[in-house]
Amino acid sequence: MSHKLLEVTQVVKVFGGFRALDGVTVQVDAGEILGIVGPNGSGKTTLINVISGLYRPDRGTVHYQGRDVTGWNPTRLARRGINRTFQLPKPFKSLTVEQNVDLAAHYGKKGRPGIADPLEFAGLSNIRQQSASQLTTAQQKALDLARALATAPDLLLVDELAAGLNPVELDALAQKLLFLAHQGMGLIVIEHLLGFVNQLTQRVVVMNAGREIFEGTLTQAAENPEVVAVYMGE
Ligand code: ADP
Ligand code: MG
Repeated sequence: MSHKLLEVTQVVKVFGGFRALDGVTVQVDAGEILGIVGPNGSGKTTLINVISGLYRPDRGTVHYQGRDVTGWNPTRLARRGINRTFQLPKPFKSLTVEQNVDLAAHYGKKGRPGIADPLEFAGLSNIRQQSASQLTTAQQKALDLARALATAPDLLLVDELAAGLNPVELDALAQKLLFLAHQGMGLIVIEHLLGFVNQLTQRVVVMNAGREIFEGTLTQAAENPEVVAVYMGE
């Protein structure tokens, strides 16, 4: 039986009566990049927190490789092959760059080859021995990508990794994410920069107030009245 890599079905997440996610359904195949865009507070990070096991959904299900993984914790999911980057990375600052990645690898999927050298892939091989307390914001984000890749994920959830990068760095990051997808990884990429998303994928979900208001191509999204209203109303 064939199934999607990831199937999120009608997920609801409530914080003290506030519905951060109000019935969200998304699917991702192996080798595919799904872009998620939407205004601040629309629930994008909460969705990643639910898929990666940081939050347990109040309703709905998460299926991964055909298995119901709803409510599994992040460590168990990482071992299965789901990992993510954080919008605000928090490396262990008392450790070196390399030690941060080695620690993550310990929690990863055993017996499955991933990126051979995640630090090199992330462009950090020249600062392996540096303390993680000395990194710029861009380097912290690169380290967070390396940390996630060290667990050899089949599904990678990327939360605003491109924020603050210059055009050259943006292009390099886009090439890296495309490479991962070409290797067969499934990705969800949350990003505000539509040009960056457009480089990666034409398949996007637009979120607003905890709901998907649109799914289709970026080109179609730009012509959709509800999407345009949400963006113009910002
Ligand atoms: P986005 O990533 O799209 O900017 P978030 O998913 O971070 O949005 O947040 C969606 C909404 O849920 C926001 O109103 C936010 O304040 C709220 N929210 C997110 N996490 C929590 C939490 N742990 N406790 C309370 N409210 C939260
Ligand atoms: Mg967010």
